[in-house]
Amino acid sequence: MVVGVIALAMKGGGESGGSSAVADPVIPAVSEADIIAAAAQLGPRDQELVDIGETGVSIIRAGGARKYVALTFDDGPGPDTPAVLAELKRLNVPATFFVVGHAVAENPGALRQVVADGHEIGVHTWTHPDLTALPGRAQRSEIENTAGEILAASGVASRLFRAPYGAVDPDVLKRAEDAKLLSVLWNVDTMDWTRPSAGQIVETVLSNAVPGSIILMHDGGGDRTATVQALPRIVTGLRARGYEFATVGDLVISDPPGSDDMSSKSRSTQK
Ligand SMILES: [Zn+2]
Repeated sequence: MVVGVIALAMKGGGESGGSSAVADPVIPAVSEADIIAAAAQLGPRDQELVDIGETGVSIIRAGGARKYVALTFDDGPGPDTPAVLAELKRLNVPATFFVVGHAVAENPGALRQVVADGHEIGVHTWTHPDLTALPGRAQRSEIENTAGEILAASGVASRLFRAPYGAVDPDVLKRAEDAKLLSVLWNVDTMDWTRPSAGQIVETVLSNAVPGSIILMHDGGGDRTATVQALPRIVTGLRARGYEFATVGDLVISDPPGSDDMSSKSRSTQK
């Protein structure tokens, strides 16, 4: 912050000097505070998501007016993230990744690859705790430190949040709202963290997806070989049924959820 102020003061002084203005060689340093301040500036798309989040609910699916679904991947980045990205690229499918802050800190390059491939990023806390069991200050740091790490690593100001285990209560939702994040749950759970076969994962998705579905999978937190293997059949199967794919943000904005598509309840049995 201090460096930035000094650099700006030097630049301003040069300009007020009124000489033949040559490009100022001083490049103002951008501090973390400046980055966070810039991220707080909401574009129209961000504002739509934040507005929904301010109603104190979690989204479980979009409105259902369009035959789109959103694939979501939690707990990464991890060792299987590159394989998930490779399949999504081959299949030309956008997805949403709810990342864990400490995993981003360990492998910021993986997060940058997710962003470079055109996917959306959401906050999934720093250490993956049950937030409902934590005091407010800890809830806040779990969320805000992760949002800051995502921003520092990739330049992305995330507007989406998914609570670990889907465990939300009014306090947790308020913390998300304070951080200008929309809480996102799901209405199709592949249960892939329980290590079903690829065929079982495919069957769960194809038999439960409806227009507007948000589908929960994982690219981190354990061996995700079956998830990777399931992806081609999930995508071709859904396309054969007339579905297309969108990120959660695009899904929600293009097809706003109704009251039946939101939840303020806690779910505590999921990964
Ligand atoms: Zn998780």
